[in-house]
Amino acid sequence: TDSDTADEAVRATCDDASICKRFATSKGYWTDLYVQYFVRQIGERKAPEINRGYYGRVKGMNLLLDDFLKKTQCDCQVVNLGAGLDTTFWRLKDENVMPKKFFEVDFPMIVARKIHNIKTKPPLSKPLIETHSTDSLLLDGHSLDSDRYCIIGADLRDIPTLEDKLKKFQINPELPTLFLSECVLVYMSPEQSSRLVHWIAETFPTAMFINYEQVNMNDRFGHIMIENLQRRQCNLAGVDLCQSLDSQKERFLSSGWESVNALDMMTVYSMLPQEDVARIERLEFLDEKELLQQLLQHYCICWAVKDKLNLGLSQIGF
Ligand code: SAM
Repeated sequence: TDSDTADEAVRATCDDASICKRFATSKGYWTDLYVQYFVRQIGERKAPEINRGYYGRVKGMNLLLDDFLKKTQCDCQVVNLGAGLDTTFWRLKDENVMPKKFFEVDFPMIVARKIHNIKTKPPLSKPLIETHSTDSLLLDGHSLDSDRYCIIGADLRDIPTLEDKLKKFQINPELPTLFLSECVLVYMSPEQSSRLVHWIAETFPTAMFINYEQVNMNDRFGHIMIENLQRRQCNLAGVDLCQSLDSQKERFLSSGWESVNALDMMTVYSMLPQEDVARIERLEFLDEKELLQQLLQHYCICWAVKDKLNLGLSQIGF
């Protein structure tokens, strides 16, 4: 059906993200020792503005994530929604800042591929075995569960099933829990993403949500971005042309979150540690600075908190 084709195209987007991350790390924008096990080839060259855009995305998300781990002293959970082939778990293990448990959710088909890679690549499976206390590591085709890391195949638009599976893998709603969504909500309708965000707010009293996605699409540049996605037959249910930083915040404020911030990536980029920004800007010459600015103005990070335990989560920011 049309909707299967659209979902299939959405699933392909996780390859795009990892291919771009693989390329940028091969140029030295940031270090990721594990993406090579999910994307074998470095692949064709990406434009410098694309690499800088990914740099801002990864650094921006990591900065907030690392701050959350610090504030909770790792006595917390992380749930990466639409994680795709993301490698954050392995970075946190290497940096010795693992949460109590790290969950990932994606479509069953993506999860099966990820598990296959983990099973067949010792640098990926070793850290799981090392952090697991018994011999009972669950590793079949469709799910993976260990003491500290778990991958769940589920559709984020089906909340009852999502809830069942998170429970089955021992999520603890009382622990501070960070939800990440990096380029994911845009593939759901505004009602579906609001329902998800609302369910989290009512289920987890101490929580943070970090969302990265497109914003300010209602101009010429935005229309070109949308056409590019549509050319790949993506289901863009969530591309709301009028989505602004204010409406990004509204999604959280109207569904039970206490405090919300949203910044476009142009602003985030200017607030990242500037010595490192200067370093990456020397990696590749960028002729058209305006192109990068336009790109950065069309993405944003929005983060929301609920802080029943009074951990000071609302202080997290750039
Ligand atoms: N978050 C990863 C990253 O930034 O590298 C992957 C981003 S990729 C653009 C979008 C991911 O969201 C894909 O892996 C896709 O399968 C997943 N996704 C989209 N809609 C979903 C849904 N309804 N249920 C589960 N996963 C979904």
